[in-house]
Amino acid sequence: MLNIVLFGPPGAGKGTQAEKLIEKYHLVHLSTGDILRAELKAETELSIEAKKFMDKGELVPDAIVIGMIEGKIDANQKATGFIFDGFPRTTAQAEALDAMLAKKGTPISRMLALFVDDEELIKRLLLRGKESGRADDQDQTIIENRIRVYNKDTSPVIDYYDAQNKYFAINGVGSIDEIFNRLCEAIDDVK
Ligand code: AMP
Repeated sequence: MLNIVLFGPPGAGKGTQAEKLIEKYHLVHLSTGDILRAELKAETELSIEAKKFMDKGELVPDAIVIGMIEGKIDANQKATGFIFDGFPRTTAQAEALDAMLAKKGTPISRMLALFVDDEELIKRLLLRGKESGRADDQDQTIIENRIRVYNKDTSPVIDYYDAQNKYFAINGVGSIDEIFNRLCEAIDDVK
């Protein structure tokens, strides 16, 4: 199995690249942001709790997202690989993911981290906010908080995978195809 963690700050292009990667490598795409937004649409009880954090650009508590991801992994027994997008966002989430995958006997193959400077991230997110109507992409204060939370709570996850020799830094600036090719080179090196 090929299990990829696609990592990077909000606006780094994880969703766009994940769509291309799942097509090429036949992976199941698990994005905690997408799963949470689907829960919100369905107005589930869990989403009422999660919304309080999402509205401020804060992280939803680990227990909620870990439970959600576990459910999705269990629901995809026939998957030949997963691409985790926007998860794990804390070291506790990374540890929980390793434990879940250990039970299936299929570890993370590689963590690919996209790097984009803050100014470019803000520009991309504001544009996405205009095009998609996503509330947390339309308010510069919330965007800046999400980037701050990434730097403080999420970026240490890099050290977690680096210690396992799975971390790969990818330049996230360029055309969609250029970035895709950089990701594929990193993946094909593991396969
Ligand atoms: P995203 O679409 O990945 O930018 O996520 C949107 C929002 O959902 C984030 O700002 C967080 O509030 C929440 N979220 C998504 N994934 C996670 C996660 N792995 N851990 C905690 N909160 C998350």
